[in-house]
Amino acid sequence: MVIAYTKQEVKTWRSEHHNAVIGFVPTMGALHKGHLALIEEAQKVSDLVVVSIFVNPLQFNNPSDFEKYPQTLAADIQLLKAAGVELLFAPNAAEMYGSTATLTLDFGSLNQVMEGPNRPGHFSGVGLVVGKLFNIVQPAKAFFGLKDLQQVRVIERMVADLDMPLSIIPCPTIRESNGLALSSRNTRLTEIQRNEAGIIYQVLSDTASKIKKGTSISEALLMANSVLERNQGLITNTEYLQVVNAHSLQPIKYVEEAVEIAICIACFIGEVRLIDNLIFKV
Ligand code: AMP
Repeated sequence: MVIAYTKQEVKTWRSEHHNAVIGFVPTMGALHKGHLALIEEAQKVSDLVVVSIFVNPLQFNNPSDFEKYPQTLAADIQLLKAAGVELLFAPNAAEMYGSTATLTLDFGSLNQVMEGPNRPGHFSGVGLVVGKLFNIVQPAKAFFGLKDLQQVRVIERMVADLDMPLSIIPCPTIRESNGLALSSRNTRLTEIQRNEAGIIYQVLSDTASKIKKGTSISEALLMANSVLERNQGLITNTEYLQVVNAHSLQPIKYVEEAVEIAICIACFIGEVRLIDNLIFKV
């Protein structure tokens, strides 16, 4: 595996492989099986796979979340080599941004729900860094996890609105056996918290199955919120629990047949903020 720390190194590598179909998996490192699943999907449909590891300061609205974000580059490199990735791009912030970037991106209604109001500036930072990475790596396809559903929709919007010449491939969420969605932030949970955090997925699945069986969305959410309240010892705060259209991400009150619905949550276990969602149809 080639490791590039600069844009120029990626450019040189890319020009040596200008005819290859490049599959690209952008990450913030602290790699786990969720990332590896994206790499496997990329390998199925690309000639060569590029992974980036960059903890993007611009997308962190909370400085302590940024400082505490796990960084495990040496272990990540071993995982990527074993996975058969061709190129790792691991720039530092100075290489990525040079002087401070001032461009901001407004994703309109996509930014007015869920993560948007709770993490001001987050999606502007995500859009900026992903746009830069697309221009540097020039992939034919880029792979994103549906665990970050709102991020997928934001990137799809950016690619469509700017006519970026690549396809976005959303990939399913990989979970622990108790249902907890894999996340780099899970390493900040204690073992007990990790074991008990399966409750988040349970709440999402129970709510989805109630809605499928005909319970109204408002009633199903009331029941879900009361389960979360009963578990306040573990889930110290729920920022949002919402049922939305899985494409527009706007909250819905009533279900329509064959329309994809997502039930989305952001909550804290101790100091660790986790997000998850479940996409379903009735
Ligand atoms: P991150 O390193 O957290 O920025 O994630 C990099 C990519 O991996 C994003 O597209 C995430 O949506 C995706 N990802 C993170 N966790 C999972 C998971 N449990 N299952 C599938 N994809 C994931």
